[in-house]
Amino acid sequence: MPRYRFRDVRRFGPVEVGTYIDRYGREAHTAACTAPGCDWSADYLSRAAAELAATAHRCNPR
Ligand SMILES: [Zn+2]
Repeated sequence: MPRYRFRDVRRFGPVEVGTYIDRYGREAHTAACTAPGCDWSADYLSRAAAELAATAHRCNPR
């Protein structure tokens, strides 16, 4: 998602949560896992939901 400029990026374990303004000018929040081999990411409407998902995320065991 290189088109978006993230701000307030925080890391929860391997997961990073960032806030950005989407194409409609609304605030949106993304949680994305940076662990190798784990492509998990999700968008949320609230910062709290994104941070909760980040802390609750568990990478798929390999
Ligand atoms: Zn993961």
